[in-house]
Amino acid sequence: MFNEALESLQKYYGYKEFRAAQKDVIQSILDKKDTLAIMPTGGGKSICYQIPAMLFEGLTIVISPLISLMKDQVDNIVDLGINASYINSSLSNKEIYKIIDYLRAGNIKILYLAPERLESEEFCQLMKTLDISQIAIDEAHCVSQWGHDFRTSYRYISKFIAFLPKRPLITAFTATATEEVREDIVRLIGLRSPQVFISGFDRENLKINVLKIGDRLSYLINYIAENMEQSGIIYAATRKEVDNIYEKLGANNISVSRYHAGLTDEERRKNQEDFVYDRINVMVATNAFGMGIDKSNVRYVIHYNMPKNIESYYQEIGRAGRDGGDSDCIMLFAPQDIMTQKYLIEVGVLAPDRKINEYKKLQNMIDFVHHNGCLRKFILNYFGEQVDYEGCGNCSSCLSEGDLVDKTLDAQKVLSCIYRMKRDFGVNTIVDVLRGSSQKKILQYRFNELSTYGIMKDYSKEYLSNFINTLISHGYINLKEGEYPTVVLNTMSMKILKSEERVMFKEAVKVKKISSDNGLFEMLRILRKEIASTEGVPPYFIFGDAVLREMSIRLPVNETQMMDISGVGQKKLEKYGEKFIEIISQYVKEQNRQVAWTSVKEEKTAIDTKKQDEKLKSHMITFNMLKQNKALKDIMKERQLTISTLIGHIERCINEDLLTEINIDFSGLFTEEEEQEVLHAGEKVGFTRLTPIKKVVSDSINYEVIKAVLIKKILN
Ligand code: ADP
Ligand code: ZN
Repeated sequence: MFNEALESLQKYYGYKEFRAAQKDVIQSILDKKDTLAIMPTGGGKSICYQIPAMLFEGLTIVISPLISLMKDQVDNIVDLGINASYINSSLSNKEIYKIIDYLRAGNIKILYLAPERLESEEFCQLMKTLDISQIAIDEAHCVSQWGHDFRTSYRYISKFIAFLPKRPLITAFTATATEEVREDIVRLIGLRSPQVFISGFDRENLKINVLKIGDRLSYLINYIAENMEQSGIIYAATRKEVDNIYEKLGANNISVSRYHAGLTDEERRKNQEDFVYDRINVMVATNAFGMGIDKSNVRYVIHYNMPKNIESYYQEIGRAGRDGGDSDCIMLFAPQDIMTQKYLIEVGVLAPDRKINEYKKLQNMIDFVHHNGCLRKFILNYFGEQVDYEGCGNCSSCLSEGDLVDKTLDAQKVLSCIYRMKRDFGVNTIVDVLRGSSQKKILQYRFNELSTYGIMKDYSKEYLSNFINTLISHGYINLKEGEYPTVVLNTMSMKILKSEERVMFKEAVKVKKISSDNGLFEMLRILRKEIASTEGVPPYFIFGDAVLREMSIRLPVNETQMMDISGVGQKKLEKYGEKFIEIISQYVKEQNRQVAWTSVKEEKTAIDTKKQDEKLKSHMITFNMLKQNKALKDIMKERQLTISTLIGHIERCINEDLLTEINIDFSGLFTEEEEQEVLHAGEKVGFTRLTPIKKVVSDSINYEVIKAVLIKKILN
């Protein structure tokens, strides 16, 4: 049966092969075993139940939580040539009876239902008479109150199953499930000895950034301006914040839509549609937006505020890059976000034990934001996935983009001012003192007599308050909660004042363009939009961005070549092939291309080489400096690299066998005693892994030192 599944994949969806994770899940379902599949958003869950549904005798019922999206989901597969339908409260009774007639006649293979439907006794009676082969439960975590969007009606599913004369095969799918939630799904839905598949949570095409910058709005405006033609979602924590950003962006001539629970149903529907149909590129929303949004060409997700937990965060950024293309995920953190989230938990209606649970999750989120190591690794570990690399090379920690600038002196000025002000004040008052303001309050407290009064008068008000906020985000000072948040010193502040710690900030994180496509891609996009508006469907229904991109690189000019493009199936070829071929042929002619068509292999190599080229650059610069006999500590200083990045470069050089002829000067990275201690430890517990060594050496020796010592040992 698996071969038939593959044939269906090619014929209907136009994909060449199953992804590794899909293969196992589909095999298990075809073997008629209850199956729970945990796959990241964009991992390709729907195909896992849709293809078996087509191959099984009888009907597959899909339980899906979002009525608003059901129509799109169904239209999408009907468009591929699959017999599917849906029943929900948006249909009249007459329409429902018509569908039931179709069901009875066996003319529908897949039926989408909202879980609420199962509460109706009458409806269940109707279902009883049908031959149901599979019940597929989408977003299965909704059954658990420990998950992040609990839905009471999901609890009816097990009753419904028990009610049926013959128990169908039950399959369940979710993108996020901690162990607790996983157990709940199995128990509360009543899966029988299920096969559980947890596929890699990693989404390599998502670049994960956490930025701590004082002025979030300017960053946001610059970012959007630079990426005007791309689709993106901006998440904010509260409705008020959404409205505020919406207005500010509008005032900056950015065309943007918004979505939150305070709008009318009609507004929400329209705004969502504008976004999905590519009529508007930017959506500002609360977390109410996005569940089940299948739009595949979302190129960036920006969190204007820190979200409430890692589950939500990962699900939200998962909405970027579903087509597999490179996409940006940027979180703009500020410490006020922590207070907002705590407040939202406090005023929420949750029972006390669930509140405690929420606080725990929030703390994990905060730990993530302050994590110095690889951010991707942190997330994957959180979801219970072991990762064998130190760094992913595609997150803001690994990439350390932007140059580090020493801000110790400025920081010391601010901190000593706070110290001298004695009592706790908010950011604005501190700024006023630093700038030497003669406001009444300042004079009243006699701050004009402090030695720090006016020592930063050359800086603008905005710059200073951003600078203080950035100090707070990095934990160099604390923000004390209360009606008026105040700034207080902590142990880190004292170290900075005593010059025991330095303050290094990335100067002005530069906004970047996500990707550049060739002109043909734009032409194909225009064609797609034309077709979409004539047919009244979202553009990505026709073809996803990835499909257009592949066309624009490989230039298919006949039907056979077109069928070889991933995402072009039989039905789509018949419907749209000719139009796209026409544009591409014309482009090829105009560009005077000798050989148009590229085979898959050539194209893949070209892309891989380009990617590797980019990654190569940085460590080759380090290599060249090493060749000039520069000491590591000087390279670090000159290039403003962290030890771990530098060590990463050396590791790459070693892997590429570049360092055999070179003597590296490790001085300044560790003391002789530290080196001896690590080497002794290694002799005892082995040199292959870092953790056992870290466990036996003194606390003051960190992983970077251990790694550096081991590298020195390898090279000698
Ligand atoms: P999920 O429901 O897990 O978030 P989807 O089922 O919406 O993910 O699939 C995400 C995207 O990946 C869709 O555009 C889908 O068409 C595409 N996709 C799924 N399976 C494959 C495959 N085997 N090869 C290529 N693309 C695929
Ligand atoms: Zn990383």
